[in-house]
Amino acid sequence: MPEQTKYPPEGSGSDRSCKPGAGLYLVATPIGNTGDMTFRALELLQGADLIVCEDTRVTGKLLNRFNVRTPMLPYHEHNAAQMRPRLLARLAEGAVLALVSDAGMPLISDPGYKLVSDVIEAGFAVTAAPGANAALTALQLSGLPPDRFLFRGFLPTKTVARRAAIEEVASISATLIFYESAQRLAVLLEDLNGVLGARPAAVARELTKLFEEVRRGSLPDLAAHYAAAGPPKGEVVVVVGPPAAAEAALLDTEGLEGALRQALAGGSLKTAVAEVARLSGRPRREVYARALALVGATASGDGDGDEVGDDEER
Ligand code: SAM
Repeated sequence: MPEQTKYPPEGSGSDRSCKPGAGLYLVATPIGNTGDMTFRALELLQGADLIVCEDTRVTGKLLNRFNVRTPMLPYHEHNAAQMRPRLLARLAEGAVLALVSDAGMPLISDPGYKLVSDVIEAGFAVTAAPGANAALTALQLSGLPPDRFLFRGFLPTKTVARRAAIEEVASISATLIFYESAQRLAVLLEDLNGVLGARPAAVARELTKLFEEVRRGSLPDLAAHYAAAGPPKGEVVVVVGPPAAAEAALLDTEGLEGALRQALAGGSLKTAVAEVARLSGRPRREVYARALALVGATASGDGDGDEVGDDEER
C-alpha cells in the first residue's frame, strides 16, 4: 500500500486566523499580472517561516508589492544540492516552507522537482497552492484541441538535439506545448515546421500582461512571419496542434511502412518516398531510409537506384 500523506496539512492556509501546518507548500505566483496572485498564496507566503525562491530579487519585488515580510532563501540549480539537506532539516523541526519560482507554478520548467521527491521520500507533508501557469493559459487561448496535450517545455538549444526531440514527439496524437525564449522563437518554429509539417499552431506572447497577443496560423506561416519580423518582445509559448488523422496513421512505423509498400507498388522509389514524406510530414531522408530497407527486404537488391540528395531534404 502506498503511504498516504494527510491533506491538507493542519491549518493549510485556508483559515486566515491560523498558521499553516508544517510542511512544504508549492505556491504559484503570477506570470505577469500581479492581480493573479491568489488569496491562498498570500496567506501561505505570509504565514510561512521561510520562502524558498529562485531569485530573491524577483520574489522580493513581488513580496514588497503585497507587504509580505517573510525571510527568503535562494534555491536554484547551482545551490540546490547543498540546500536540500538544510531544507529537510527545517521541515524536521516543524517549519513551514513555501516554494515559489520567479513566475507561475514551481517545478514547471522551474526548480523544485528533486526537493519535492526528497520531501515525499522523507515523509514530510507537501501540498500545492495552484495558480497561474503559462502552458495551460496558452493552451486555453490557442484554439487547438485541449482534450489531450503534451507539455514538452524547453527543447535543447543545439540544432541536432532539438530536431531529434521534435521527432520524438511527432507521432503523438496530442496538442504539443513548448516554452521558448523570444530570441529563439524563429529557430524553434523553423524546426517544428521542418519536422512536423503544416500543422495548425499558435504563438502566445506576454500572457496576462498589457501586450498579450496570440498569433494563430499554420506552422509554415508562423515560421515565415517570425523569420521576417525578428524576435518579438517578451515571453512566448508555442502550441502545435495534433497530427491530422491521415497523417497520424502514417506516423507509426507500421503505418509508414504500409503506405510505402502501397506507393512502391504503384511507382518508383523516388516518387514513393516523395509522396509518403509529403503525406506523413516526416523528413524525406528518414522515409527514404525506410523505403530502402523495404526494397532491400523484398528484392535483396538496390531497388531502382533512385537517390534522394541533400537538396531534397525537407
Ligand atoms: N513556471 C512557469 C509556469 O508555470 O508557466 C514557467 C517558467 S519557465 C522558466 C519560463 C517560460 O515560460 C518562458 O520562457 C515562456 O516560454 C513561458 N512564460 C512564462 N510567462 C509567460 C507569459 N506571461 N507569457 C508567455 N509565456 C510565458
